[in-house]
Amino acid sequence: MAKKKLFFANWKMSLLPNQAVELAEAMVDKIKPRADQAICLLPSFSALSLVQTVAGKSQLQLGAQDIFWQEHGAYTGEESALTLRELGCSSVLVGHSERRQYCHETDEMVNKKVKTCLEHGLQPIICVGETFEERKDGQKDFIVMQQLEKALSGVKLTKFDRLAVAYEPVWEIGSGQAALPDEVWYTLQVLKQLLLNQYSPEVVRDQIWLLYGGSVDADNILGLFGHPVLEGVLVGGSSLSVDNFNQLIQASS
Ligand code: PEP
Repeated sequence: MAKKKLFFANWKMSLLPNQAVELAEAMVDKIKPRADQAICLLPSFSALSLVQTVAGKSQLQLGAQDIFWQEHGAYTGEESALTLRELGCSSVLVGHSERRQYCHETDEMVNKKVKTCLEHGLQPIICVGETFEERKDGQKDFIVMQQLEKALSGVKLTKFDRLAVAYEPVWEIGSGQAALPDEVWYTLQVLKQLLLNQYSPEVVRDQIWLLYGGSVDADNILGLFGHPVLEGVLVGGSSLSVDNFNQLIQASS
């Protein structure tokens, strides 16, 4: 069976818990994934449990925006894989550029989080992407390859593991202007090559998804999906309205 296209709704810290529940209710009502699509909501930690009560019995999946690598103990402010599993999460964002920027998350921390997700049956969505300055300096490929290589250092995949890699140019996030499709496809091919150095073609084909994120909307999504290397999207702003998110999904094929 062909891989499903993945749609992740990253709600960041944009909603209060009751607003997240309202949005989840509207999405459960209105958004019906086709057999070849999977849709996953990523609310903030504080809303996970509430959103799970709404989305838990629907076809929409639940994920988290972060994770910590210890299972329990004196780690103030963190959440463990055990908690995320108990709350019904199936996937977790790891290394989002906002966490790298504001919380000084390093590639080593990202690597620990990826391993933790896999050990607990969660799908990590590894975010990589260059800043505008790095791009101007001609370092884009080097930066994204290095981030991915370090994120996957020592990561072995069993046949049960699922992984996603999201190329998110930092300067495109929230800009209203997505990267050009050619550029996205080229960068995803570079990342895929790197994955093929570490994993078999079958594992890359069946267990690893390549995504793009950065100002995806209903107007640009069809163009982005114009090459099979793109297998899903990570959506911020356009996932904060049920109509925008639904239109984006409808417009994707
Ligand atoms: C994101 O935060 O990962 C993202 C892609 O946001 P936006 O769609 O708003 O650019």
